[in-house]
Amino acid sequence: MGGTGLRIGIIGAGSAVFSMKIVSDLCKFPSLSDSHVVLMDVDRTRVENVLVLAKELTKYFNAKLKFSIVETIKNAVEGSDFVINTALAGGHGYLDLVRSIGEKHGYYRGIDAQNFNFVSDYLNLTNWNQLTLFLKIARTIEKYAPNAWYLQAANPVMEGTTLVSTQTGIKMVGFCHGHHAVEAIAKFLGVSEYEWQVGGVNHGIWLTKFRTKDGKDLYKEVEKALQKTRYEEFKPSNPFDDQLSPVAWEMYKLYGLFPIGDTVRNSTWKYHRDLQTKIKWYGAPWGGADSEIGWKWYVEELSRVVGVIDMFAKMVREGAKINELKTGTQIDDYLKEILSEKISGEQHVPFINSVVSKVPGRFVVNVLNKGKIKNLEDDVAVEICATVCGEKFEYEETHIPERVVNWYLKPRILLAKQAIDAFLNKDVRLIADILERDPRTKSTEQVEKLIAELYTVVRQEAEKIEQQE
Ligand code: NAD
Repeated sequence: MGGTGLRIGIIGAGSAVFSMKIVSDLCKFPSLSDSHVVLMDVDRTRVENVLVLAKELTKYFNAKLKFSIVETIKNAVEGSDFVINTALAGGHGYLDLVRSIGEKHGYYRGIDAQNFNFVSDYLNLTNWNQLTLFLKIARTIEKYAPNAWYLQAANPVMEGTTLVSTQTGIKMVGFCHGHHAVEAIAKFLGVSEYEWQVGGVNHGIWLTKFRTKDGKDLYKEVEKALQKTRYEEFKPSNPFDDQLSPVAWEMYKLYGLFPIGDTVRNSTWKYHRDLQTKIKWYGAPWGGADSEIGWKWYVEELSRVVGVIDMFAKMVREGAKINELKTGTQIDDYLKEILSEKISGEQHVPFINSVVSKVPGRFVVNVLNKGKIKNLEDDVAVEICATVCGEKFEYEETHIPERVVNWYLKPRILLAKQAIDAFLNKDVRLIADILERDPRTKSTEQVEKLIAELYTVVRQEAEKIEQQE
C-alpha cells in the first residue's frame, strides 16, 4: 500500500451525506487526494447523484480523485486498500416494517427496543439482512483483498464489529461519531481547553477522563452543574439534543460516569416505557430521537436530504457550480461545511491517512476487547481511544468503574452476544427466550404469533442479501 494512489471502495455509497463527507475529507488530505474512489450501491439513482456531486467537489478543491461506479460487492472490494461500509440493507422502510410488526403484537417501538439498546436504526434482533451483508462484505474482502482494511460505519457497529472480527480474520475497525458529544458538555461548563477520554462499547460509552490541560478534574464542575440543574428547564432544540437531558444526569447519578452521545438514548425502560415517559425524560415535544415522533422527524429529514441531493445533482448536470447550490434550509450549513477547509468529524479519512502516511492520529475505535478494558469479555467489540500510526494501534489505558461494567456494559454485551448467536444459528427459539424476559410480553402465545409473522419477513430479507452479488 503506498501513500498515494489508493483504491477506496464505499458500499452503500448512495448514503449521500456520508459519502460527500468522505469525498470532501479525501480532497483535504494531499496524500490521499489522488485516490480512486469506487462507489457501490443497490440504488442506481442515488449513487449516480453522489458521483455527479463528488466529481464537482473534487474540481472545487482542485484534487485529483478518480471515481467509478460498480455493480457488485466483489467489484467494490477487489483491488481496494480500504472498504467502507455505510449501507443499510432494506433501508429505513425495512426498519419501519419490523418495528410495526412488533407493535402489532404488543411491543412498543418493536422488539429490538431493549434495555441499553433503543436507537431506532441499531436493530440487532431483526436486522439479519444487515448482519448478513456485513459478513458477506467481510468474506469477500477475505477472499479478494485480504490486505484491505474494512471500516464499519453502518450500524449496529458493536454487533457488526464483533461478528466480523470473530468470524473472519480481516483487518477491521468500527467507527462512530458519537464521542463528539463531549464538546456539548465542555461548552455547557464553559470550558474550551480540556483533555478527555471515553470508553465502553459503541453507543454505550462513558466519559472516563475529563480534565483541564493542567490536570484539574472537570468532574468537579460537572458535580457543581448537577446541583444547579432543573430538569423542568430542559428544552431540546431537536430530537437528538439529549446530551444534557434529565436522562443523562440521572444516568450519571446512578452509574457514576457521564454517558456520552448515543449512550444517553440507550438507557433503560424507565425512560422509554411510552411516549409520555420519553417526553418527561428526553424533553418536549419529541421525547427524544427514538420516540414515534422523534424518529418520524429524523426519517423525514433524511428523505428531504435525499430529495435535495437529487435536485443538486440535476442543477450540477445543468451547469451549476457546487458553491452556488442553495436551499434556504439547514442543508446549506452542511454544504458550507463540506466546502470549508475543515475536516468533517467522521474518522474514516483521517484514519486512512494515519495508516498510509504514518502520521499519528488519535481515534475512538471499535475493535475486539482482548483485555483492553478489564473485566469485559475478550471476544466482544469495545469502543476505546487509541493512537494509530501505520498499522500500529496504541490503546489508552481505560479504567471503567465496576458500577458501569456490571450494571450497564455487561448486560449490553450479553444482549449483543445473544443477538449474534441467534443470527448465526438462525434460531428463533433464542429470540423467543429473549422475549420471555421482556417486560412487554404477556404470554407465550404472544411471542409465538410475533415470531411466526416477523421472522418470515426477517428470513426472506436476509435471503435476498445472501443472493446479492
Ligand atoms: P440510507 O438508507 O439513507 O442509506 C444507505 C445506503 O445503503 C442507500 O443508498 C441504500 O441504497 C444502500 N444500500 C442498501 N442496501 C444495500 C446493499 N445490500 N448493498 C449496497 N448498498 C445498499 O441509510 P442512512 O440513514 O444513511 O444510514 C446508513 C447506515 O449508517 C445505517 O446503518 C445507520 O445506522 C448508520 N449510521 C452510522 C453512523 C456512525 O457514526 N457510525 C451515523 C449515522 C448513521
